[in-house]
Amino acid sequence: MCCETDVLIVGGGLVGASLACALGQAGVRTRVVEASSPDADRSGGYDERSIALAQGSQRIFAGLGLWPKLAAAACPIHTIHVSDRGHFGFTRLRREQEGVPALGYVATAAVLGEVLRHGMQQQQSVQVHSPAQLAAFDTDAEGVRAEIDQDGVTTQCTAKLLVAADGAHSAVREQLGIRTTRRDYRQTAIIANVSTDKAHDNVAYERFTDSGPLALLPMSGQRSALVWTVHEQQCAEIMALEDGEFLRRLQQRFGYRLGRFTRVGARNAFPLQLLQAAESVRPRLALIGNAVHTLHPIAGQGFNLGLRDVAALVDVILDARGDGRDYGDLAVLRRYAQWRQADQRRVALLTDSMVRLFGQPLPAVAWLRDTGMLALDVCAPAKRWFGRMTMGRAGRLPRLARGLTVK
Ligand SMILES: Cc1cc2nc3c(=O)[nH]c(=O)nc-3n(C[C@H](O)[C@H](O)[C@H](O)COP(=O)(O)OP(=O)(O)OC[C@H]3O[C@@H](n4cnc5c(N)ncnc54)[C@H](O)[C@@H]3O)c2cc1C
Repeated sequence: MCCETDVLIVGGGLVGASLACALGQAGVRTRVVEASSPDADRSGGYDERSIALAQGSQRIFAGLGLWPKLAAAACPIHTIHVSDRGHFGFTRLRREQEGVPALGYVATAAVLGEVLRHGMQQQQSVQVHSPAQLAAFDTDAEGVRAEIDQDGVTTQCTAKLLVAADGAHSAVREQLGIRTTRRDYRQTAIIANVSTDKAHDNVAYERFTDSGPLALLPMSGQRSALVWTVHEQQCAEIMALEDGEFLRRLQQRFGYRLGRFTRVGARNAFPLQLLQAAESVRPRLALIGNAVHTLHPIAGQGFNLGLRDVAALVDVILDARGDGRDYGDLAVLRRYAQWRQADQRRVALLTDSMVRLFGQPLPAVAWLRDTGMLALDVCAPAKRWFGRMTMGRAGRLPRLARGLTVK
């Protein structure tokens, strides 16, 4: 079988699917190759996994016309409370100070996936191959040639541009021999949903502890999504604890700001690393999302950053199309790479510095960081800068990030 498309996206995770929705709306013929089956990860109920969406991501989803569906299931964040366990430092960000209805939103990955799947299905110009594999690809001045394996059938596909949205272990990036810098944090994030006997009042908590940061994100139904980072050696023991003992340890780490922890659901563990690809474009190729940057989840920035890659790449493609230029051309794609570089570096540096700074047990360092946190709490301009970073509104913004449509 043969097919011809404009953009071939490898990886239909949250980032790849978002790009497909945007390109589809702009009438760009798009094919997505996704390894997992469309029924995977539709788990609902108490244990559904959550993602914190920055306010900037809310705008991008609004621009894509997907926000009304997401809003119905998302929990708004009104306040972010950051504290340092066993020390005096804390800082708060409030929606009133930022002049926004919410600093961000917590949505479940299942709802996000469903909304994006539906968003792709709505677009006639988007075709999804799932479960399917990219078996081979090569590029030349004319375009991309790829082989897609699905249900034992191989389809030969040609495209103007191939986008690698295939995650941290990107096979496309590996095949191209793109160098990466990595830092193994020797930490594992244990995630689970928990219930507390006090209402969360739409407050997201980030608490730094001597074993790593601990976040609690407000969810619907009086639940909070826990992201508890522990040293890798502690992971197996904590994962094996029976629920009562797990909650007791969590209470000890977090304290009583949310009252008593009363329930914990299924736990999952994710080893953590920082990964940065040295290049994000080659002729006829672009990398987005985790394929180009994989971050520590300390500030819940990974998907938000990937979504901003999507918004910028869409702008570059549409501008080139409007000017009658080939958007597989390296000179065009470099605009995307240059545009994204500062934001990608800034967010990677911010999250990595936070991990390092709050991982320091030295009393002098603890004193300095806690003084810094208190200063941030009372210094309005510094807080506004921090707020813009957290909400994904720093730097030059593409159309979608300004809430505009791409139709
Ligand atoms: C514990 C934890 C908490 C987090 N919390 C947040 C948060 O609150 N907010 C936030 O913004 N971010 C958060 N993140 C980060 C966020 O989850 C990721 O940045 C985001 O999911 C990356 O999406 P992606 O689509 O780039 O990559 P992935 O989600 O890795 O998707 C890649 C897709 O490509 C497919 N694929 C791979 N190889 C192939 C192939 N050869 N052929 C076809 N398909 C292929 C895979 O099946 C997969 O579906 C968190 C991360 C962790 C670990």
